[in-house]
Amino acid sequence: MAIAEPAEIPAEIFPARLVDPDLVEVGRRLFAREARFITGTAEASALPRDNLPEVAFAGRSNVGKSSLLNALTGRRALARTSNTPGRTRQINFFDLDARLMLVDLPGYGYAEAPRTEIGRWTALLRRYLETRTALRRVCVLVDSRHGIKEIDHPLMRLLDASGVSYQIVLTKTDKVGSGELALIAERTAAELATHPAAHPEIHLTSALERRGIAALRASLGSFALSADRGGAGATAIEYAPR
Ligand code: GDP
Repeated sequence: MAIAEPAEIPAEIFPARLVDPDLVEVGRRLFAREARFITGTAEASALPRDNLPEVAFAGRSNVGKSSLLNALTGRRALARTSNTPGRTRQINFFDLDARLMLVDLPGYGYAEAPRTEIGRWTALLRRYLETRTALRRVCVLVDSRHGIKEIDHPLMRLLDASGVSYQIVLTKTDKVGSGELALIAERTAAELATHPAAHPEIHLTSALERRGIAALRASLGSFALSADRGGAGATAIEYAPR
């Protein structure tokens, strides 16, 4: 009988590495729990308390952020909440099993966005990044067909300046061949090396084909409160604005 190999999740992380099967299982269980919409706000003064470790998702509009959030949480419409008119320019908060806060940051790069709106968005984001002490990681989503673009630079500069740890998650990998994907990943890694707050690891995902989802769950799950500190039995958490 063959000896069980360590769980390798091929082509889900660049540079490729083995993912601890225990972490995959922890991530799977965590993301199988209910993600509860807490609030959406465009006002820095109305941000909920940050009493849970937090991971945030950002990217230009249409990058596949809603699809990825839905794939991660196994829900069809979790992030539709964020895509409904009026909510797209807000920061939306989802509590995952009272152990991790998932934060959907507004998409940027709307061609038609007026300058005043871009200014408001930047101010809100800056305030968010400066004040969230529980923010552990920002996933910056980038379309794998294009790699990091000029449009992503203001966000990356803001993250570097605020010292918030961030990582690139390539989306829609089903749309590129493996050779092209490897090239984009290498180019992306080379660019990340020049950004002080960027994590060197890149996640390669396809919400459509559910690639890279298990590895990303494993990676983000490591920021969650452990099951015995949070979860169903934990003390109810207050989300009143501070
Ligand atoms: P958002 O604006 O960043 O929230 O992007 P959406 O999740 O709404 O996706 C934008 C478009 O890309 C939609 O047409 C999705 O169906 C498509 N899309 C999202 N993820 C994937 C993916 O993994 N593969 C492919 N082929 N298309 C995707």
